[in-house]
Amino acid sequence: MLKAAGFAVLAVVVAAVAGIEAQTESSVAVEPVRPTVVMPKPVVKKPTSSSRIDLSLEGLAAASKLYAAGKVPAVRCVLPGRPPQTKGELLAYARVMVGCMDRAWAPVVGRADATLFPVKTVQAYDLKKPAASPECDKPLRNMDAFYNSGTICFEWPEFSNPDEPVWNLVDFQQLIAHEYGHHVQQSAGILTTYDAGWSKQPKATQLENERRLELQASCLGAAFLGANRSGFRLAGERLRMWKYIVRHVGDENNTLKIRDHGSYKNHAYWTTRAFASTSPATCNTFKATPQRVS
Ligand SMILES: [Zn+2]
Repeated sequence: MLKAAGFAVLAVVVAAVAGIEAQTESSVAVEPVRPTVVMPKPVVKKPTSSSRIDLSLEGLAAASKLYAAGKVPAVRCVLPGRPPQTKGELLAYARVMVGCMDRAWAPVVGRADATLFPVKTVQAYDLKKPAASPECDKPLRNMDAFYNSGTICFEWPEFSNPDEPVWNLVDFQQLIAHEYGHHVQQSAGILTTYDAGWSKQPKATQLENERRLELQASCLGAAFLGANRSGFRLAGERLRMWKYIVRHVGDENNTLKIRDHGSYKNHAYWTTRAFASTSPATCNTFKATPQRVS
């Protein structure tokens, strides 16, 4: 996710298949260095000769069974009692949250005929001390977090402002839910399908598909948060904060002017709908018009 004015935006580094590398994010950011990651190849059913299956990369991502897998359930989630501030507290919070998302998403991904891979690790890094977090190699300066092949990394100082503990927490919840959205995409085969064709498309198509991927990650994250709004205390003032944040995540924050995450307006559209529906059914960004993923 990318950095935003006054608050954080997400970013995600993605995966690579067949030697092709790609990077993903959530709402803002630019990725100069693409790490090399070998991802499992997606399983694609062979179409019958008479079928009219769209075998383009976007078509395969649009046809995922994830969209018909039903709602994300509410799960029991014992989160730390007070807003996290220190690196250790933020890490502990993120890891508990990831455990909750594992339990919530596993049955949904299972109904999509896929298996939710375990998240390898959740790590916190500080851009001033990169050597302290070798698992989060080469973080980008205009992102607050990224996902790379099963690893979730976040820039913890961005969420440690003691003057805004509740705001930081809501922003952090949105960020971690977005990064986990990429993990769902990877487990469901959407990320690998997408990455497989990364370098074969014209630049404009690459960017549009990157926006589809990023907006979908936020959408999936919002579906989880909507289903678990009670456990995450997303009501009243906190919900107002969340709605403000999702209306201000997007390429408008990208200092390098790269259009790879989508606009504020479209980010708000996908996240707000999914928070209400609590279902990936409302997250098929690969079937949306170009205007909805601009
Ligand atoms: Zn992302």
